[in-house]
Amino acid sequence: MKFILENNLSRIAKWLRFLGHEVRVLKGEVKLGKLAKFEGFVFITTSRRWFDTLEDRGFQVFLVPREDWKLQLCMVIKHFDLEPALRLDLCAYCGHSLERVRKEDFKDRIPPTAYESAYDFTYCHECDALFWKGTHFEGMKRTLRDVLELCYSDPKP
Ligand SMILES: [Zn+2]
Repeated sequence: MKFILENNLSRIAKWLRFLGHEVRVLKGEVKLGKLAKFEGFVFITTSRRWFDTLEDRGFQVFLVPREDWKLQLCMVIKHFDLEPALRLDLCAYCGHSLERVRKEDFKDRIPPTAYESAYDFTYCHECDALFWKGTHFEGMKRTLRDVLELCYSDPKP
């Protein structure tokens, strides 16, 4: 899916990219003129006022709470029935497609411990970021499980 997010939602922007979705983050204030360009995108906002305004004008818009990024993310995943799998095929910083690369070609940029043990090295040609799966990948999977539990667990008695 394609999402456009308010500036203050950049934390979930990163995670929606991890799940493989196209995400743009609005810089600065929300303005109607800026949003009109993003046809086919769902706008995610924390502002009830913007939610009402945009819904009245026929935009696809979704309201999340102002606090708690884990709850925000969980609500988006549940509402849009997104597959909760870490695809990691888009750059977390800029959203461009990542290319698989050989670690040998980036040896000077990879800490020795990661060079030995990490795998699935990918590179963003747009912003020059390098990614790999290592110990932090297990942490990400745990975090995603925590996020999902917020919305999918049985209601507490
Ligand atoms: Zn990038």
